[in-house]
Amino acid sequence: MPIATVNPANGETLRTFEALDGAGIEQRLAAADSAFRRYRTTGFAERARLLNQAAVLLDEDQRDIARTMTIEMGKPIGAARAEAAKCAKAMRWYAAHAEELLADQYPSAADVRDSGASRAYVHYRPLGAVLAVMPWNFPLWQVVRFAAPALMAGNVGLLKHASNVPQTAMYLEGLFRRAGFPAGCFQSLLVGSGAVEGILRDGRVAAATLTGSEPAGRSVASIAGDEVKHTVLELGGSDPYLVMPSADVARAARTAVTARVQNNGQSCIAAKRFIVHTEVYDEFAERFTVGMNDLTVGDPMEESTDVGPLASEQGRADLEELVDDAVRQGASALCGGARPEGLAPGLERGWFYAPTVLTGITPAMRIHHEETFGPVASLYRVDGLDEAVALANDSPFGLSSNVWTRDQDEARRCVRDLEAGGVFFNGMTASHPALPFGGVKRSGYGRELAGQGIRAFCNVTTVWYGPEPVGATS
Ligand code: NAP
Repeated sequence: MPIATVNPANGETLRTFEALDGAGIEQRLAAADSAFRRYRTTGFAERARLLNQAAVLLDEDQRDIARTMTIEMGKPIGAARAEAAKCAKAMRWYAAHAEELLADQYPSAADVRDSGASRAYVHYRPLGAVLAVMPWNFPLWQVVRFAAPALMAGNVGLLKHASNVPQTAMYLEGLFRRAGFPAGCFQSLLVGSGAVEGILRDGRVAAATLTGSEPAGRSVASIAGDEVKHTVLELGGSDPYLVMPSADVARAARTAVTARVQNNGQSCIAAKRFIVHTEVYDEFAERFTVGMNDLTVGDPMEESTDVGPLASEQGRADLEELVDDAVRQGASALCGGARPEGLAPGLERGWFYAPTVLTGITPAMRIHHEETFGPVASLYRVDGLDEAVALANDSPFGLSSNVWTRDQDEARRCVRDLEAGGVFFNGMTASHPALPFGGVKRSGYGRELAGQGIRAFCNVTTVWYGPEPVGATS
């Protein structure tokens, strides 16, 4: 894949970049290694000062970086600004909380005595240079949710960003430098995916985190496994959205539209399978279809646009294949099911797809098991909660889940039984710095954000003093 900015709204190539050669990669690995040796000894107050400064700069840059993201991957401009604001918030959150999240932990006095120690505790130390292989769909947020905790823990970051967002990648490197982080603490490596193996195998890289597709995750995890290096994987999702009879159906349907089409439908935590109780199915289907039909598809630079283009021609072709396969086997489209008509002049060559609701889906169809990365919803009718949960779990993925109910017993059963890294009631899945984020099954392993996210790339060090504590002779 060439490293280039190609505007998905019209297919125009705006800028291309040379990939780093071997010498360039070597120079950056050496810089990361030498930066880590010094940076690891800085205190939380200094790291927090730098990260807070990065947040200030990001807020100042919000309009410009939002435009860059929209031009590179097509998200609506308002959503791009919101993404930048969310990143600044996460930076401030980790700057404020890292010290407390990584404070030494003390076992009970009885357990300390039982271990034969006069004193024992757990201490968190950084691991070193962490390689982050990142996707284009939230080109700032995916990086910041790794970088903010990693830098606060004393690690340094090496970003291999998706090849279609090179300007956002370079912006991030510049942002951390301008904030005052020492050279080498956060670097963007403009390389293709073929260069990842060599970088990951390098002894100066301690660990890796990948957000992206299952094949990419499998490849990176197997190389890291071979090198015995720790990994976190945030992969695809096909999140269920259950609607039960006690729900506020009008709100559930309104939220469902946003949950499905956020980021032009290209979000790992977008709700993709809408599983609705038969008692409220007709009302939900009607409201949801009207809502999807009413969306404005068009130029993502326009403030009034709800749904922009897909990020790549290939992404649209993959989505079309899934829909066509389903329709060929008997599914029907309540709306959409094709490329949109009547786009404004200049957008004809963009990679747009109409918001779509499909019904009549069976397990024989690819769409039943695969992730739809675009504005296409699968709508199912069920007779009760047991059937809804069974259908929700009939997926290789387990990222998050959404449930609309006012019934406490139903909620309790969903928390117990839904196979996912999150259960969101009467709303839609969203990430927040204070709440862990990640999945089970083919959606990956490990967690980002919150305490789990910052401890993921730490050396959890046991410190144990024998009966004669250090300092006893003085
Ligand atoms: P992708 O093709 O897997 O790319 C993600 C990153 O991995 C890019 O930097 C890509 O580089 C690199 N890559 C691809 N193949 C690789 C390989 N064999 N070895 C090493 N690196 C490789 O995914 P995408 O299309 O950008 O993103 C969409 C996927 O990400 C969806 O499945 C989505 O659900 C998932 N996602 C998950 C989360 C989450 O938090 N769970 C969040 C966002 C997205 P190139 O660009 O150079 O190919």
